[in-house]
Amino acid sequence: MDNTKATEMLYKGKTTKGMDFNKPEAFPLFCTTSFTMKSLEEVREAYASKYTYVRTNNPDREALAEIITYLEGGEKSLIFSSGMGAITSTLMTFVSSGDHILCNSSIYGETFDVLKKLLPRFGVESTLVDFTSEEAIREAILPNTKIVYTEVMANPTMALTDISMLAKIAHEAGAMLIVDNTFTSPMSIQPLSLGADIVINSLTKFINGHSDAIAGSITSTEVIANKVQPISMLCGTPGDPFAAWMTIRGVQTIDLRLERQMSNAAALAKALEDNPHVLKVNHPSLESFPQHELATRLFESNDRMAGIMSFVLPEDMGKINAFMKRLKFAHYATTLGGIRTTLNHPVTSSHAHMPDEDRRRMGITPGMFRLSVGIENVDDLIADFYQALEVFEE
Ligand code: PLP
Repeated sequence: MDNTKATEMLYKGKTTKGMDFNKPEAFPLFCTTSFTMKSLEEVREAYASKYTYVRTNNPDREALAEIITYLEGGEKSLIFSSGMGAITSTLMTFVSSGDHILCNSSIYGETFDVLKKLLPRFGVESTLVDFTSEEAIREAILPNTKIVYTEVMANPTMALTDISMLAKIAHEAGAMLIVDNTFTSPMSIQPLSLGADIVINSLTKFINGHSDAIAGSITSTEVIANKVQPISMLCGTPGDPFAAWMTIRGVQTIDLRLERQMSNAAALAKALEDNPHVLKVNHPSLESFPQHELATRLFESNDRMAGIMSFVLPEDMGKINAFMKRLKFAHYATTLGGIRTTLNHPVTSSHAHMPDEDRRRMGITPGMFRLSVGIENVDDLIADFYQALEVFEE
């Protein structure tokens, strides 16, 4: 059969005869750059309410956006090519030359670079302060502050931000609060319900959960999302259909995965705290966590706080290396949120650019690891860490 004929048949519906295309069990992948129209009436109709060109709109992106809107409890979501695509497009929508952004000093490294290296070139200045201090936030807010920006939980110290308190301060000053929920995910907290105006997710992490697709999202009111959409179009940041389709597949198991990841993390944090070779463990479920009281207000229970944690080992780099080699389940990877437990070493990766003195002030030492806990059997995980920690006895 020649190709032209096959295509013709498909378009006439002959190839698909007998199949119910209205209700496929799995959402289809619309891997097409555009949708065809036969007449000027159809063109008008498509532009008004249907699909036209992939950068403008696409069924996979829209289906995924509906799921994210439901999870975050908003009115409308947009899907981007990455978490960074979501962050840059949103900031570019709401700031102009002369405006100011107030941001948490513990922030994802590339968000920091956008605020400190990219936006100043367009006349937008940012101040970064420690958001665990209400006083520091109040002092740093300026008359031209348009955006207050934070993550719920800081990498890798797990320091929490009181979102309701921050929303109050931002709104009193006439600023908008944007919260990056990537580390926590909507399964542990919904920042919009605590007063945030926009919530951002790198879907690349917990929401897709399988470490095989890159995408980002924002969720907000219809009015706010509709302002970001045309800027995203111009910046070329809307997500591609395949990544959206992969993420639809991943997100459908989010409650099962996250329930397990969050409870595994709480159990592993407790077990590591009990191990004599571990100097410190940072996880909001632990009573030793400095903001444990805030954690109990922000989250539903100890088992529904976070799938991420960090811990500190003695600064013997040879033994740290041997410990990594002995781990059977946890692998080193520069991502998080997947179904397998992954670890990374902030001093040689995310915080490598920082002077040692500044890092130590934040509690980040060469002995620190960040863990993203997976869905493995928790007893196997604990046993694996315990056997690897035996290198500190040798
Ligand atoms: N926000 C946070 C908290 C992140 O950890 C990351 C990436 O690690 C991003 C945003 C950026 O996401 P992406 O890699 O999907 O662009």
